[in-house]
Amino acid sequence: MIKHILFDLDNTLYSRRYGLENGVSARIHDYITALMGVTAEEALEERKKRIDHYGTTLEWLMAEKGFTGIEHYYQAIYPENEADALRGEPGLRNFLKTLPCPLSILTNAPKEHADRVLKKLGIGDLFTELFDLRRLGFKGKPREEAFRMALETLKARPEEVLFIDDMPKYVSGYRAIGGRGILLDELDEYPAYGYEKIRDLQEISGFLL
Ligand SMILES: [Mg+2]
Repeated sequence: MIKHILFDLDNTLYSRRYGLENGVSARIHDYITALMGVTAEEALEERKKRIDHYGTTLEWLMAEKGFTGIEHYYQAIYPENEADALRGEPGLRNFLKTLPCPLSILTNAPKEHADRVLKKLGIGDLFTELFDLRRLGFKGKPREEAFRMALETLKARPEEVLFIDDMPKYVSGYRAIGGRGILLDELDEYPAYGYEKIRDLQEISGFLL
């Protein structure tokens, strides 16, 4: 039985049509290009090659580039006006309030970013726990440690927590430890994905029994 719902934040609690993550990606690209002192193409190429070994670019930089400027990185990637394009999602707050169990968030972004987005959406008060990358000790999704840390705090087993994310690799990480993971594939970008998925967040009601 599902006792808790764990949501990804970006492109899960709001539509990917806002394109917020495109801005994040562009700023990450600019940042690593400057950091590595190579051309933009070379930086992009290396990131592409290495990123699959890590949940986030920051973890890659820390592990392989000896990078330690975490706060500087976060300020550059998540500027204060980053969520300006975001509008409230009509009906989201009311829908979340109808869900029959507690809700939490697991994001590979920092808390200040999550707080900004949640404030824009007007739903910050509806979540019990917010697990951000700092709280996860910079070992984010899809690592097992990230999910275990959240589950331990929620005092629940993997099969008791429904996890929703728009990225197949994060959902797979949770499924690999026996969790109930659902892919939110809003724009049908992963037609070959062979496990449970939804197009709209409101469909999760069907997975709560
Ligand atoms: Mg996401």
